[in-house]
Amino acid sequence: MTTRKLDTTITAIPVSDGAGVKLLRSLGQTGQARLDPFLMLDCFYSDNPDDYLAGFPAHPHRGFETVTYMLEGQMLHEDHLGNRGELRSGGAQWMTAGRGIIHSEMPRQESGRMRGFQLWINLPAREKMKPAHYRDLAPESIPELPLPGAGIVRVIAGVYRMEHRSITGPIAGLSRAPLFFDVRLPAGQHFAHPLDAGQQAFVYPYEGSLMVGPENDARPLAAHSAGILGAGGEVRVAAQTDCGFLLLAADPIGEPIVQYGPFVMNTPEEIDEAIRDYRNNTLV
Ligand code: MN
Repeated sequence: MTTRKLDTTITAIPVSDGAGVKLLRSLGQTGQARLDPFLMLDCFYSDNPDDYLAGFPAHPHRGFETVTYMLEGQMLHEDHLGNRGELRSGGAQWMTAGRGIIHSEMPRQESGRMRGFQLWINLPAREKMKPAHYRDLAPESIPELPLPGAGIVRVIAGVYRMEHRSITGPIAGLSRAPLFFDVRLPAGQHFAHPLDAGQQAFVYPYEGSLMVGPENDARPLAAHSAGILGAGGEVRVAAQTDCGFLLLAADPIGEPIVQYGPFVMNTPEEIDEAIRDYRNNTLV
């Protein structure tokens, strides 16, 4: 199996979203800075409550999935379906907006550190209008395994393959077959994992710096940059310092994307319809 090279790097830029939450945006900072089917990756990381207290009051989505993964801190999710979920350190929520959801994501802490991610994954045309679905993943439901050598991997979605067995994360069986790992690696160690050749993949170090790619052709990737991997098979990453990184992979969709804020559809007409539905209270 060939090892994927580090192809392109998208360095995160500071942005503000929701009611004024400070974020670092890598994927999604422009319409070109995407990796089908991944539309956006935001990282929130602050010790200052002024950066996060405003939260994300009630807002709609249509046509894709939003995934929130919390490293440190507490958020409360509430949606129009009556779902209410406390998001704790190490937990996640996987929300399929489908034809429409109206939800809020608000901090449940007034001080201390808030650190985590929001990832947007597109849906193919045939799934964009399916009913909304919400999965709350408690920290205990996410398998955490020691790596050969040193370090750990947390398997949020997809299958982690070892020599003689494999571990499936709580999210499996979705149409894009997403893989979402959180890997912690001490300096000097490396991590390698097979990926399906048809999948698109990227690595996002949130702490420390990495070398990415085959041993004889590895390239550096600094913290808070999305490293898009080229074609091939396995991913290989070496830790230059103690580090933590996300590994994401999924099957591409290959359809046109028209985005208007929280609505992501295939055509401008479908966006008009989403705006009209939201105004008329018929989005959900
Ligand atoms: Mn949202």
